[in-house]
Amino acid sequence: MSDPHSAFIAAVRQDFPLIAQAGLHYLDNAATTQKPEAVLRAMDDYYRHRNANVHRAAHRLSLAATQAFEQARTTVARFVNAARPEEIIWTRGATEAINLVANTYGETLQRGDRILVSQMEHHANIVPWQLLAERRGVEIVALPLTATGEIDLAAYARLLDARVRLVAVTQVSNALGCVNPVAEMARLAHGVGARVLVDGAQAVAHLAVDLQALDCDFYVFSGHKVYGPTGIGVLYGKYDLLCQLPPWQGGGEMIARVSFDGNRYQLPPLRFEAGTPPIVGAIGLAAALDYLQGLDREQLYRHEQQLMAQAVAGIEALPGLRIIGAPAQRCGSLSFVAEGHHALDIGSYLDQRGVAIRTGHHCCMPLMSALGLDGTARASFACYTSAADVQQLLQSLADYLADESAQPAAAHSAPSPAPNPAANPAQQTPLTDQLRAAPGRDQRHALLMKGGVAPLSDDPELHQERFQLHGCTSRVWLRHQRDPRSGQLQFELDSDARVMRGLLRVLLEAIQGRSPEQLLALDFHAHLAQLGLLQQLSASRTSGLRAIIAALQAIAASYPA
Ligand code: PMP
Repeated sequence: MSDPHSAFIAAVRQDFPLIAQAGLHYLDNAATTQKPEAVLRAMDDYYRHRNANVHRAAHRLSLAATQAFEQARTTVARFVNAARPEEIIWTRGATEAINLVANTYGETLQRGDRILVSQMEHHANIVPWQLLAERRGVEIVALPLTATGEIDLAAYARLLDARVRLVAVTQVSNALGCVNPVAEMARLAHGVGARVLVDGAQAVAHLAVDLQALDCDFYVFSGHKVYGPTGIGVLYGKYDLLCQLPPWQGGGEMIARVSFDGNRYQLPPLRFEAGTPPIVGAIGLAAALDYLQGLDREQLYRHEQQLMAQAVAGIEALPGLRIIGAPAQRCGSLSFVAEGHHALDIGSYLDQRGVAIRTGHHCCMPLMSALGLDGTARASFACYTSAADVQQLLQSLADYLADESAQPAAAHSAPSPAPNPAANPAQQTPLTDQLRAAPGRDQRHALLMKGGVAPLSDDPELHQERFQLHGCTSRVWLRHQRDPRSGQLQFELDSDARVMRGLLRVLLEAIQGRSPEQLLALDFHAHLAQLGLLQQLSASRTSGLRAIIAALQAIAASYPA
């Protein structure tokens, strides 16, 4: 598909050092965006020329720092059309902003009060409410979704009554990309006297946000998802409401007077900003918003919509792939699955082609449960995403589906062509040996995929919930026994992701038939690093390797020496 915005986008791409480099097709923007030169320069300039602590300035440098910092607040207020800068509170990110509301407004709620939370929320907009529910006995009600993966507005209308004190809803779903009618939802919620918190983490980079028109009570977003730095985020709250709320963290800046007889607290926003604030983060975020406002945002929106249409049409044309959700308006993110394939396998294959996507539950486990999925593959776009990026995604997906060697083996009930390696690790480490000899990353990936082609165990008993390890992106099952005479440990490991099975096979080659003492002496990380595998899969985090290693070590430690 030709891209009528290509000259515009080509210029935008030049503003982002990491995007300007060849060979990277970065489609993980819902997780975090890249940063333009303007942001890097603003932060560098601040540290070089204006760095000082803010507020209560007695010297010129501190005055300059305070001015830059408070100007950043004004920039944010204008960007979202808040009524006044004092409605903008700096936080570490969207997560902290929601926690702030839960720990202030939430503390004014009573037993029996209700909080409505949609089923598509990010964990950041679920767990703080659950913690609050444990503290205060409030009730959390999950708003169901329709068959197209949108909020069920009829159910919403039914659930809204005087018990509801808060509606917490995302403006744009990070997993499915659907745009929710938050203004209409806010209007209905206000009709029963409920407050409304809108999670704008996935909206601000794509949609023009006018908070006075939206009329929600709280709005949150993270700087790093809108071309700004990490460690900075925003809570917007209506000023009169903020004035009624208690502080949450105590310290400097948030007090007007401290004595052992009682304190007086600052007015908002300082009341909620204890300690030295994230000064340079605020300045970087303001630079990012200025940068974005300097672009033609309508043209950007049309461009992103065109990319979305290109991706949707391309994925629909690939047999075996299924797009998740069919919302009336989608922006930013597109989720899909391939029947019979684990999303992690798709993601690691695409990575070999320079395409960065995200796979897994996207911090939306309740949504995944509602959809009956373990996870999805998600491509997400930004202002610098080009039609060529989307084309590379589609071509790589087509190659993946056509690549015989990438296909999954039959289901677990099929006879296992690859039983667990036998007891003597010294003699049987074929995959480890091949990996050691592999010249590079691509070859190592191919070896892992080959090593994981078939299930590692055909025993249906093993693939039960009680043997499942938690903390892994894919499902991993672990069972063991110890030979009472030799003292050797025998393990069974398996996963539903092919690349993970390859990795488990490597682990099995290292641990099978060892004594607990030998296992405790084994430096797993050094072993895997030596094989080039830690870097390969960013395995210590994304594939939950840490959880597996910890479980193996715990097993070894459970046998007294
Ligand atoms: N809400 C949504 C919709 C998100 O996508 C995210 C980040 N993925 C968050 C909240 C949390 O943002 P952060 O981790 O930056 O606090």
